[in-house]
Amino acid sequence: MDYAPTSPIAPGRSYYEDTVERPFYPALRESLDVDVLVVGGGFTGLSAALNLAKTGAKVVLLEAHRFGDGASGRNGGQIGTGQRLWPDELEPEIGFEKSLALFRLAEEAKASLFEFLDVNQIDVDLRYGQLAVAHKKRYLADFRSQVEALTERYAYPHASFMDREETIARLGTNRFFGGIRDTGTAHLNPLKLVVGTASAAANAGARLFETSPVERLEHRGNRHIARTATGTVTAPNVLLATNAYGHDLSPALDAHVMPIGSFIGATEPLEDETILPGGECCHDSRFVVRYFRRSRDNRLLFGGREAYTSATGDIARHIEKQIAEVYPQLEGVRLTHAWGGHVAITMKRMPFVETSRNGLTAIGGFSGHGVMLANFAGRLYAERLAGNRNRLQLLEDLDIPPFPGGTRLRGPLTALAMTWFAFRDRF
Ligand SMILES: Cc1cc2nc3c(=O)[nH]c(=O)nc-3n(C[C@H](O)[C@H](O)[C@H](O)COP(=O)(O)OP(=O)(O)OC[C@H]3O[C@@H](n4cnc5c(N)ncnc54)[C@H](O)[C@@H]3O)c2cc1C
Repeated sequence: MDYAPTSPIAPGRSYYEDTVERPFYPALRESLDVDVLVVGGGFTGLSAALNLAKTGAKVVLLEAHRFGDGASGRNGGQIGTGQRLWPDELEPEIGFEKSLALFRLAEEAKASLFEFLDVNQIDVDLRYGQLAVAHKKRYLADFRSQVEALTERYAYPHASFMDREETIARLGTNRFFGGIRDTGTAHLNPLKLVVGTASAAANAGARLFETSPVERLEHRGNRHIARTATGTVTAPNVLLATNAYGHDLSPALDAHVMPIGSFIGATEPLEDETILPGGECCHDSRFVVRYFRRSRDNRLLFGGREAYTSATGDIARHIEKQIAEVYPQLEGVRLTHAWGGHVAITMKRMPFVETSRNGLTAIGGFSGHGVMLANFAGRLYAERLAGNRNRLQLLEDLDIPPFPGGTRLRGPLTALAMTWFAFRDRF
């Protein structure tokens, strides 16, 4: 059992780290003057660097630790469909037309990711299908109405309602009451995607640096100057893609994006073939969502349990308990890996994008829905800078409010609210 942390910013060694070699990139040890500086080497930053380099821009990316040490290399790998909020939740807020535009954007994000993997021949253990399941009977009506909305109003042909019998057969447990089967999406090994995107960005001409935390960001004249311990980068445009891990570089990100701990465990390879026999990934209707899937080598990767403070506790013990609740036949199963990371949430559970007049853009807060969207947001940023199109505006227009209580009080206030929702999950 190897739970020793390998990322300085997240607990535990992830299963993904044992599935792919991560090449090292150098630290910044010089002064560079470029068109665009990207801060943060997760999906958002790496995809922005790749797409900017493809347009011919001179781009530098600075990552504080190693690529994938943030959420992008340690997540559940589920791609999802549409936005984090369902159409029924979004429409009352922003209306049908905008909700449809955001749905189409997300579908394009999905297609763009599949195309990227295909064109660059990047193997990320891709498997198709996602199941969303109701842990309480009372949610079934919402699931039915979601399928109706997707099929009839959003012209999405891949979602169908599952009754209890089908749900039991597809999951290999009788703990859920029904749900949605979505054959139009997939799941993947996120660290392999990080490694592949970094390599594509470097090949396209982006200059990538690891172990280079930006310590200060200043604005002088029409340029930004970023300082690390051993170098500087000057650029007229800066993308802050630091998500839940950046502090103090952008008051806007700090105010609108909040870290929440989420945790995953990997079992040893399973003999049991009744668990998710179709190979789909799955997530349930709990507010503190449980999400699980089988890896290529037949382990159960099971995520759940959120934490609203920096204390992580015994991750393995909590995840083992949750696995046994969903799959009693796995009671006592050994976890080979247990790890966690920060999910960046916003007040509306939709991404936060903000551009100040002086060429500083902050993107983050995908609220557990960033595997495709963070990647695509990086591309949209590059598109905007190249002057081609401005679809990033759709996200920027979402008008995400800051968390109440400022950076000091928002943690305890949100913890209180979340604890109430987690309590409600049980009844
Ligand atoms: C446990 C877990 C499970 C999840 N499951 C899913 C899922 O199944 N499906 C899904 O769609 N989403 C999921 N997510 C969310 C998803 O991982 C994120 O939305 C996505 O990875 C965000 O990417 P990012 O590039 O914006 O941020 P990150 O990947 O967090 O990258 C930010 C980077 O910025 C760097 N950084 C911070 N400060 C500085 C600085 N001063 N200088 C330089 N670099 C800096 C950090 O080191 C980090 O590498 C999950 C997240 C977690 C943690």
